[in-house]
Amino acid sequence: MLRLFERRIPAATIHEIEVAHDGSIYRVALKRMATSKRFTLRVRAATRDVLLTMPSRGSLKQAREFAERHAAWIGARLARLPRPVAFAPGSVTPLRGIDHRIVHRPNERGVVWIARDDEGPLICVSGEAPHIARRVADYLKREARRDLEAAVARHSQRLGVAPRKLSLRDTSSRWGSCSTSGGLNFSWRLILAPPYVLDYLAAHEVAHILHMNHSPLFWAVTRRLFPETERAEVWLKTHGASLHRFGAG
Ligand SMILES: [Zn+2]
Repeated sequence: MLRLFERRIPAATIHEIEVAHDGSIYRVALKRMATSKRFTLRVRAATRDVLLTMPSRGSLKQAREFAERHAAWIGARLARLPRPVAFAPGSVTPLRGIDHRIVHRPNERGVVWIARDDEGPLICVSGEAPHIARRVADYLKREARRDLEAAVARHSQRLGVAPRKLSLRDTSSRWGSCSTSGGLNFSWRLILAPPYVLDYLAAHEVAHILHMNHSPLFWAVTRRLFPETERAEVWLKTHGASLHRFGAG
């Protein structure tokens, strides 16, 4: 598996407070952690939320005071996050690392197809307007599955392993994972990234079929399958979180 910087918070531990600043109200999730020595605030790009971790003995009052003291910081961080991009006519989404503009072609045949005009590549969508977002999302997931199946088949053949089932997910904490039974899970959002990033994730998860850990042996297998492992890791660290803003809002 490959984690983003931030982890998902178990729902059971969450309390939420609201902090007002300068006419805005921010919701702050609280997480008590036995290992926390102090209060820490984080604004998470993938989920656009605010998390305050605190020592298990810290009080709600202390948490509120801490969050209120840093409300301006929260506001500034949230304002700096890229806006969510809906799959709607006129919006631009990357597909295999290349920006595509979504256009509505209500009277044409087909469901979703790729075209190009003077300004660049297009994702064209037919049918009625309320169905556009879902049709684009379905199209991207189909394309993701196709590319991932091809990449997984190629890497598996080289390793002489047989992956079980390939599933697509939409988690903010992982790009891919491999179960002990050999089932591979991937984020469909990898289709938005440049193709080498998707290819790397396929190699990474296929390598987990041999080594269910991140040991030096595992990395040796991954690099043999995919020599540009470092380049792909750097891309994910730099741009990965921004993939979560597409198809929202
Ligand atoms: Zn891994």
